[in-house]
Amino acid sequence: MTTGTRVLVLNAGSSSVKYQLIDMLDGAKLASGLVERIGEEGGRLLHLPLTGEPRETLRRFDGHDVALEAVAEELAKDLMGLDSPELAAIGHRVVHGGLRFTRPTLVTDAVLGEIRRLIPVAPLHNPANITGIEVARRLRPDLPQVAVFDTAFHATLPEHAARYAIDRAVADEHRVRRYGFHGTSHQYVSRATARLLGRDPAELNVIVLHLGNGASASAVAGGVCVETSMGLTPLEGLVMGTRSGDADPGLVFHLHRVGGMSVDQIDDLLNRRSGLLGLCGDNDMREVVRRAQEGEEDAKLAFDSYVHRIRRYLGGYYAVLGRVDAVAFTAGVGENSAEVRAAVCANLEELGISVDPELNAVRSRDARTVSPSYSRVAVAVVPTDEELEIARQTFALVHEV
Ligand code: AMP
Repeated sequence: MTTGTRVLVLNAGSSSVKYQLIDMLDGAKLASGLVERIGEEGGRLLHLPLTGEPRETLRRFDGHDVALEAVAEELAKDLMGLDSPELAAIGHRVVHGGLRFTRPTLVTDAVLGEIRRLIPVAPLHNPANITGIEVARRLRPDLPQVAVFDTAFHATLPEHAARYAIDRAVADEHRVRRYGFHGTSHQYVSRATARLLGRDPAELNVIVLHLGNGASASAVAGGVCVETSMGLTPLEGLVMGTRSGDADPGLVFHLHRVGGMSVDQIDDLLNRRSGLLGLCGDNDMREVVRRAQEGEEDAKLAFDSYVHRIRRYLGGYYAVLGRVDAVAFTAGVGENSAEVRAAVCANLEELGISVDPELNAVRSRDARTVSPSYSRVAVAVVPTDEELEIARQTFALVHEV
């Protein structure tokens, strides 16, 4: 067993790699960074050491192997290279674990093969995640590599929440069901909310609102996820930066048959040209709020649609849980936009939900409650930290075996 205390977390996307080196003794982020535009012109590596100046490298990175080697070189300059004995393991974010992977898993050839077999249900994400794992294994074949799945926390959804009401044989043949995503964030935030409130996670019912560029809600009962808004793919659910979220599936047939659009064009429309961007031309909530406050009608519509959808989920999850102890806002919008939080919680006093305008207006990087002290339901702002959660799960697994 390893004696190292550090975990390197890798999040490999189709043309990017994000990384963080975390010391598990105290959770310190020793270094972080990202490589962008892999395989394209205008590649860039930005390395942020814990102390010292950020270092930028501008050059072409032909593939993920070249990019990861460059990351390893940057870490080595800080004397924290991949060959360091302090490195205990590498933790990989893997988007789709299907029904097979419901826990963090030590990567073997067989595991890699099974992640590969899930590519049909996650064609945009799993291939890049697999490449990241393969390259990291080549660089350090002797080091434990752990896959942490975005879907895993949602594996506890009851069957009646996970199934679409379609022909079961068709669903089973094509592995069509609701998997949910952002699981690492929902897990981290639901636990951190319990810690913030000084409560046992096993006794707390929380609705987590992960509102970033991608956005999802989940209902967590006593630490167990029982509902979540994303489904077979990350398209279902809330209005997002560029994704529509819920829409009548019939609009796909309509746009195809009547609008003459191909499946790929509709895919592009719903995933990349919809949501806030589609409604008002901006996908950054800061711009949407600024323009709405200046009276621009389309920005106001985008803001109101975004909030309305969240409120529908909030009410629905209240009914699913029966008793709600806390509502936790997280990710870029949830952590930063007092306007969104106030609008989501407006006029819900009957449900025990309200925000204190002064507490809500405070800007802070710390977890905090923004509801009045007398509230039946705590409204909390809890910064998410998916990398730390991946590192924790990776480290725990390495020490189990
Ligand atoms: P994430 O995906 O969690 O990194 O969130 C990114 C999104 O957070 C951006 O697209 C912005 O819309 C939003 N965001 C970041 N900062 C703010 C802010 N100060 N106010 C409102 N929204 C913000």
